[in-house]
Order: sequence, then structure tokens, then C-alpha cells
Amino acid sequence: MLVEGKIALVTGAGRGIGRAIALALARHGADVVINDVLAETAEAAAEEVRPLGRRALAAPGNITDPKQCKEMIERAVTEFSRLDILVNNAGITRDQLIVGMKDEDWDLVLNVNLKGAFNCIRAALRPMSRQRFGRIINIASVVGIMGNVGQANYAASKGGLIALTKTVAREMASRNITCNAVAPGFIQTDMTASLKPEIKEAVIKQVPLGRMGLAEEVAGCVLFLASDLAAYVTGHVLVVDGGMAM
Ligand code: NAP
Repeated sequence: MLVEGKIALVTGAGRGIGRAIALALARHGADVVINDVLAETAEAAAEEVRPLGRRALAAPGNITDPKQCKEMIERAVTEFSRLDILVNNAGITRDQLIVGMKDEDWDLVLNVNLKGAFNCIRAALRPMSRQRFGRIINIASVVGIMGNVGQANYAASKGGLIALTKTVAREMASRNITCNAVAPGFIQTDMTASLKPEIKEAVIKQVPLGRMGLAEEVAGCVLFLASDLAAYVTGHVLVVDGGMAM
């Protein structure tokens, strides 16, 4: 029970890594607010949490809209009285080589992956400052550290998210709010499911542990950073990639 009695909000938690994070936090005693764009997906994930004996609130909303983020966080605080843990997980890709990348694909990826996290952080800092407690965890990517061919928009968004993480950590430390990033490598979810088998094989060859990671393996690291075990960790980037980026 690493996060017993805590209130957590996870963005993009309808499926994939976000859903695994919401379930891991609930298994360890947290009540969870489940954000996703689609109301049905958010509610389905909330339905999975409730049998674990924890409260779950589906909070559909698009994180690119600051107003929706503010309302979502206010709703979470009204419902559960506080907000202890924010996991900025929602993210998208629109891959293309730079020469062919459309303006709208650059803007959309930066808007969801970076501005979306900023919108949620800014709104969450209010209740967290009042409480003098907060744990913010941003789901970045090893690509934000290494760069990647065909992912200029995605890599820039994740690199920006790492810089944002360190800035929040510095600005909010005096309020006992920590902010860390988790940088997954190559994880088995819908995001990677559409990759061609030969591309998957080539990537796996670069992973010393010789396989793709599981969403639950990312969730375990988020759980650690959200728990008291990581009380003295802030501004850190925890790479979860089977050794790929070292
Ligand atoms: P996923 O399966 O595609 O799930 C992403 C989730 O985010 C979906 O539930 C999606 O909702 C939601 N979402 C997208 N745009 C949103 C928005 N504007 N507002 C609210 N929710 C939104 O992706 P994943 O693989 O689990 O990835 C989760 C995070 O890990 C992302 O930040 C990703 O960049 C990062 N990551 C993944 C990998 C990997 O190998 N899979 C590696 C490194 C980092 P809908 O389905 O309703 O659109």
C-alpha cells in the first residue's frame, strides 16, 4: 500500500500506459480520477478500478484546452477534497521526416504532449500548494533525450516536457511538491502496435533486455515516484527502457 489514502489524477488513462498507472495506484490504495478524451473509455477504466475497493471518477476532457483542465481539477478536488498525485500521461504521435512534416502535425503533437501537461500542472499547483504536498509525474520518452528519425515533433515535445519537469521541481520544492519524469523506451501498447514487424524487430535489437516493455513496468516506476519512498527525489528523469538509451 504505497499510496494509501492519496488522490490521484491520470491523464489519457482510458488505455495503454495510463490505464496501467491508474490501476497500479488504485491497487496501492489511491482513489483515482481517470481522464481521457472519450467519455466511454474513461468510464470503462473507472469501472475496472472500482472492484479494487477504491473510488474512481471518470473525467473526460481534452487536455489541450486549459479551461477543461482547470474544470477537471476543480471537479476532482470538489469530489475528493484534495489532489495529491498528478500523472501527465496523455500523449500522441504524428510521425514524419522533418522535410515532409505538416505544420498541423507539429502543432498538434506539441499541444497535446507539452502544452497539455502544462495546462494540467498549472491547474493542479493551486490545490497542491494549499496542501503543501504534491507529486507530479510526467510521462516523457527516451526519444526526448536521444532524438529519433521521423519524430521531430514528438521528440521536441518530450524534451520540452523534461525541461518543464525540472522547472516545476525547482519552482515548487519549497511547497513540498516534487516533479519527476518517467522516460519509457519501447513499450507494448496501441501506440507501438501499428509499427511494422521489421521495425519492431530492429528496435528490439537495440534493447539489451531483448524485449519490449510492458505498461505495468512503466506503472511500477510511476508508483515509486508517487510514493513516500521517493520523497527526496525531484527533477529526476527515470528511464524505463530495458537499457536501450544507456
Ligand atoms: P496510447 O495507448 O495511444 O494511449 C494514449 C492515451 O492518451 C489514450 O487513452 C488517448 O485517448 C489519450 N489522449 C490522447 N490525446 C489526449 C488529449 N488531448 N486529452 C486527453 N487524453 C488524450 O499511448 P501509450 O503508449 O499508452 O502512451 C502513454 C504515454 O507514454 C504517452 O505520453 C506516450 O508518449 C508515452 N510513451 C509511450 C511509449 C510506448 O512505447 N508506448 C514510449 C515512450 C513514451 P483516446 O484513445 O481517447 O484518444
